[in-house]
Amino acid sequence: METISTFKNQPLRDFSEEKNRAAIESALVEIEALIRSRSLAAAPIIGGAKRGGCETFSRKDPSNLNVTVGTTEFASVELAAEALESCRRGFPAWQATSLSTRAAVLHEAASIMRDRSAFLTALIIREAGKPWKEADADVAEAIDFCDYYADEMLRIGPARRTQEVLGEDNVLFYQPRGVAAVISPWNFPLAITAGMTVAALVAGNTVVLKPSEQTGLIAHELARILYAAGVPADALAFLPGRGETVGRFIVEHPHTSLIAFTGSRAVGLEISRSAAEVRPGQRGLKRVIAELGGKNAVIVDDDADFDDAVRGVLYSAFGFAGQKCSACSRLIVVGDAYEPFLARLAAATQDIIVSRAEDPSAFLGPVIDEESQSRILGAISEAQGQCTILAQGVVSDEVSRSGTFVPPTIFRDVSASHPLWTDEIFGPVLSCARANSFDQALEMAVASDYALTGGVFSRHPGHISSAREKFRVGNLYINRSITGALVARQPFGGFAFSGIGSKAGGPDYLLQFLEPRVVTENTMRRGFSPDLSN
Ligand code: NAD
Repeated sequence: METISTFKNQPLRDFSEEKNRAAIESALVEIEALIRSRSLAAAPIIGGAKRGGCETFSRKDPSNLNVTVGTTEFASVELAAEALESCRRGFPAWQATSLSTRAAVLHEAASIMRDRSAFLTALIIREAGKPWKEADADVAEAIDFCDYYADEMLRIGPARRTQEVLGEDNVLFYQPRGVAAVISPWNFPLAITAGMTVAALVAGNTVVLKPSEQTGLIAHELARILYAAGVPADALAFLPGRGETVGRFIVEHPHTSLIAFTGSRAVGLEISRSAAEVRPGQRGLKRVIAELGGKNAVIVDDDADFDDAVRGVLYSAFGFAGQKCSACSRLIVVGDAYEPFLARLAAATQDIIVSRAEDPSAFLGPVIDEESQSRILGAISEAQGQCTILAQGVVSDEVSRSGTFVPPTIFRDVSASHPLWTDEIFGPVLSCARANSFDQALEMAVASDYALTGGVFSRHPGHISSAREKFRVGNLYINRSITGALVARQPFGGFAFSGIGSKAGGPDYLLQFLEPRVVTENTMRRGFSPDLSN
């Protein structure tokens, strides 16, 4: 079998090493000083100029609700129109910039992020409430996206001859699409925002970047890094704002050629519908890339290694409080393993450390905000009337009072029609069910609207090979956790209602940001006039 890539990923920090802990600790001290002096502030940047907003959004630290981390000025739709116009004007020059220059800009951005990685990690810890390990992985992935897409553009960018034929020259090459609207979620506030933005840029598009409301500060750092790396002022507009106003406006705008969106199914569907409508002044069909949610299942076979499986399931379900599109939210255990496995899982759930994200021992931090917290707690209490709780983790009163915490919660014997089993909750909630056989477990796993990730813990070679074939999801993991895809190693993304788009961090991703062209020239000599060459 051919190996696709030799890409080297940015190593994750090993926090068992003192120097790595010290780097984050001192970055957290630096961020704390900036918070106290109210220095963390983001605002729209259009044509290189900082602009005022129509609303000031205060971001509370989800681990410490009495602390405002910083403020973000939200753009109005009038400013959004200016952003689109600036990027439309900037497109011809950026399109004409050589591939090698555009790739060099991304490598430079990666290098700046590497130098500032501790600061960026600490900012994510405070702004998004991500525990250390998760925040570090977010930064490493952003670095990888920059380096990987730069390399990929150099690989696919140069023109290629389609065939050798006598008397005819046939050349295939790519052109960028135009102005890209990049709309990102809060759960990978740096990695996903950077990934979509730099892919669009390196392909030669200009970008209007609208980050999530909750994570404007880290997105602002990204924009500044990209300008410092050499992205021209009119190739990128930073446009924090409300999804329902500014987000909707840039999707609808006739000058937008491409929408790169990662977020919820409901918004993704609305964007797809809206982008299909042709509006006055529009010059072509809009391309939509939409990476959406998941309702991911892990199957534990009756011969699985329970130690590995308990660890893998708990990390997949409760890492970053279950707020990953790849998180495990359904557990299917085969046959007689059901009761003993659930007993082990329940016991291990009691050991989960729920704490503030800045606490290095936190396994599970807060959820993103109060709205999310009350939605998830509401789903748990509603389900309690109909389903049985197997286990619930412990949150101390002191931690619970300080932020938007939700205890890790596991339901047992959940029926296939219950919303717990069918709907994405996006919080630390896991539902379990028993299957009579491995085949039935596979059927239960794929009976979902979504097809993003999935996992199998098994020692049975026949079952593993059957899972490879029948467990149809974008990313299937065997005998390991189902989150934490690495750029180039596990190109990431799903299908069905998990999205339309080709895998982020994979060899096909950039093609979506490009339009292929072919030029055919008859090269048989027919009265060629060299004197006309000028
Ligand atoms: P969301 O859909 O609420 O918001 C995502 C972005 O869309 C935000 O920037 C928001 O402001 C904007 N937005 C909201 N309404 C809009 C509208 N009408 N028009 C245009 N833009 C609009 O999602 P979220 O809560 O930020 O993120 C969580 C969701 O993202 C989950 O469903 C998760 O599964 C999904 N997700 C998927 C992937 C993937 O790769 N498949 C990765 C991460 C997150």
